[in-house]
Amino acid sequence: TEEILRVEELKTRFFTDEGQVNAVDGVDLSIDRGDTYGIVGESGSGKSVTARSIIDLIEPPGEITDGEIWYREPDLAAAIGDDYPDAIDGDRIDLLRIPPSVRRSLRGSNFSMIFQDPQSSFNPTITVGEQIAEAVEVQRRASANPRSTRARSEQYTLTSMILGSMFSSRRYVSPESRERAIELLELVGIPDPIERADQYPHEYSGGMLQRAMIAQALAGEPDVLIADEPTTALDVTIQAQILDLLDELQAEMGMTILLITHNLGVVARMCNRVGVMYAGEIVERGTLEDVFDDYVHPYTAGLLGSVPDMEGGGGRLQPISGNVPSLLDHEMGDRCHFADRCPKAMEDCLNHPPEYPASGSDHHAVRCVLAETGYNDGRALPDDYF
Ligand code: SF4
Ligand code: MG
Repeated sequence: TEEILRVEELKTRFFTDEGQVNAVDGVDLSIDRGDTYGIVGESGSGKSVTARSIIDLIEPPGEITDGEIWYREPDLAAAIGDDYPDAIDGDRIDLLRIPPSVRRSLRGSNFSMIFQDPQSSFNPTITVGEQIAEAVEVQRRASANPRSTRARSEQYTLTSMILGSMFSSRRYVSPESRERAIELLELVGIPDPIERADQYPHEYSGGMLQRAMIAQALAGEPDVLIADEPTTALDVTIQAQILDLLDELQAEMGMTILLITHNLGVVARMCNRVGVMYAGEIVERGTLEDVFDDYVHPYTAGLLGSVPDMEGGGGRLQPISGNVPSLLDHEMGDRCHFADRCPKAMEDCLNHPPEYPASGSDHHAVRCVLAETGYNDGRALPDDYF
């Protein structure tokens, strides 16, 4: 398999009145084409900010201040190579070194994102079918001339009208796009898609609107679908259906999925690679087996130990004591971010930030001084968890 996306030393800061917040503090990850990569962590760990940094949805006072995001796309690399030679390495493009207009133009056709709250992706005053058709139309116009960055910039303007809820009164919807919208609704398992297309978002149930949002995200046949807590707001049955749907769509369309979740069960079910995120860093990453069975990082151990037993009783529930540290730059210092909560903390951990033992490798990597000695107290998820 080939690597489609490689993030290196990504840093995203928020410049607030209290000071600089290091929300993403040097994230490395590597995703192969067709894989499902899970970023798992508690809320506030920086996983959503990582996802939004990749798809370029960071707004002031946030800013990506450092790092590289390498995206493998030979056609695009060839098309823009002459204009932005510094951003190209063979068939890869560093998304942080191309102009914002070109970068944003990749949204929809190359990268697409679904969110926890589908309401935010739809205008309540326009039918669902029309909004999806509009997304199709935007992609059609751009792909009519895929090598032109100008077409891509125009596409961005249209996409941003959709994404930014700045809806134009003009419609760009052809009968073909409407037909494609209905196909997409059918693809995501919406019954009676022809009638459903003419309904407004409020006429959909939560689960149905989630499906419609996925249909909208698929309009441009993206290479990479980023799903940020896509099922968190749904009840367990619908949640399972949506996860099944993502699985099916991935098999059918060959998409790569970056899945952001706090739910270990979702990761275990969906992902073949995992990054565990804590306080702005990926503290452990590897295959699902590396992280769930052969974990080394005390935070991973704590996270696995805090999973409630599905059989009831909650006997396994052992929350990690203490609080998530401040991500303010002047309070973070040079210590391991987990030091205040870590049962294994030692003097070493307070003086310098632990480095990955195998920096830049795609193998099991751990950001902890224990990486050399190993640490695994035998806790794992209960067998009946999935
Ligand atoms: Fe705990 Fe030290 Fe490892 Fe940090 S580096 S996780 S404090 S053992
Ligand atoms: Mg989040």
